[in-house]
Amino acid sequence: MNVDLDLLRQYNQSLPRYTSYPTAPHFGEAVGRETFRAEVWRANTAAPQAPLSLYLHLPFCRQLCYYCGCHMKVTHDPARIAKYLRYLKREIDLLAPMLSSDRPVTQVHWGGGTPTLLSPEQIRELGGHLRDRFRMAPDAEMSIEADPRGLTEDHIAAAREIGTNRLSLGVQSFDPTVQEAINRVQPERLTRTAVQWARDHGIESVNLDLVYGLPHQTPDTMADTLGGVVDLAPDRIALYSYAHVPSVLEHQRLIPEEALPAPTERLRLFKQALERLTTTAGYRFIGLDHFAKPDDELALAQDNGTLRRNFQGYSTRAGADVYAFGLSGIHQLSGLYAQNTKNLPTYYDQIDQDELTVYRGYRPTQEDRLRRHVIMRLMCNAEVQKGAVEARFNVDFDAHFSAALDRLRPLEQDGLVALGPDAITVRPPGRLLVRNVAAAFDAYLHDAAPDAQPAYSESV
Ligand code: SF4
Repeated sequence: MNVDLDLLRQYNQSLPRYTSYPTAPHFGEAVGRETFRAEVWRANTAAPQAPLSLYLHLPFCRQLCYYCGCHMKVTHDPARIAKYLRYLKREIDLLAPMLSSDRPVTQVHWGGGTPTLLSPEQIRELGGHLRDRFRMAPDAEMSIEADPRGLTEDHIAAAREIGTNRLSLGVQSFDPTVQEAINRVQPERLTRTAVQWARDHGIESVNLDLVYGLPHQTPDTMADTLGGVVDLAPDRIALYSYAHVPSVLEHQRLIPEEALPAPTERLRLFKQALERLTTTAGYRFIGLDHFAKPDDELALAQDNGTLRRNFQGYSTRAGADVYAFGLSGIHQLSGLYAQNTKNLPTYYDQIDQDELTVYRGYRPTQEDRLRRHVIMRLMCNAEVQKGAVEARFNVDFDAHFSAALDRLRPLEQDGLVALGPDAITVRPPGRLLVRNVAAAFDAYLHDAAPDAQPAYSESV
């Protein structure tokens, strides 16, 4: 895949990642527990066989990585983790009876924080609890995020026993100087051992997370990291851009700013990684920050048009409502977004009162659903067919989206997108800037005053 640095420089801007539309900053407290309960009941009654996707948020980490942008809490106290786990199971017990037992769970994702901060026994216990409360589909995708530091073979064995078939390991960089600067010292051998354990225990798919734009990262350190990663042959690779926003995330002040690559250097690191992964290493660029082997499910789903996006990123499980358990988790139903509290004492208080912990959300309008459909088609399949949109939403595409099409004309002139009579197609150079293409359809981005815009990360 060839990367045009001038185009990246020209179009690099702060934009949503479109894991939802509208995006989470537009959620409001008009949606609370009662709205959520009513929508769960409505969705369950309307589609009592519809598949489910479950997300478990385990917020604890042993140590703060200075680049971190997640909802996490540092702890060394096993009692604190055990308490959270008790409440998480109670939350599952509150919600599970509201969903038809006929609904198959086609996807489970354990995210964090660090899910593998749980002991192997706690992983077995929580996995068993889920299996007792829900009907797992035989081919369910079950993934867990893991930190190679502190991971043991028994963690992997426990994850496999409860049905985990995908493991995602945080790497970021193999370079010791970079690791020091981000407060994540993780010798390469730990990652290698974790990958080997996953394969030994029959976990089908391994993902490695990398980050570019970190302090002290250079083309040489990036080349070494990429070499090490490619040598491990993971099924998927995520290559995230480090967003340095110390005004929002105070702990990022601990990152030495003078050691951060300059903007052009950052883009060069991205280009270097992208070219290495998609040429000699043979990975398929799926979109945004995701790469997969050409025979991976993500690549196949993209080919057959069933790739979707949700708060966990790209997903192959189309049509599943996402129910989230734990602090800050976001439920994603077709008719409602709803987010759990981010405050731990509030989370415990509400569960003690046998209440769900939703505190904000958003009910998409018909116009939101239309725009969401178009944006997601572009993000996942790099194309939107006008006729299909017109048939589904009863609109005249060109008339309805005339402002969006006008916004896309400069991108068409720069070769990023083809505006055909029947379809809008993201061209290969535009695949790296797909957020810019999708953003043309984002009414919230264009209708709000510039100083009322939420802060988003940059396109690349
Ligand atoms: S392990 Fe992940 S969630 Fe925890 S501090 Fe590091 S980046 Fe953040």
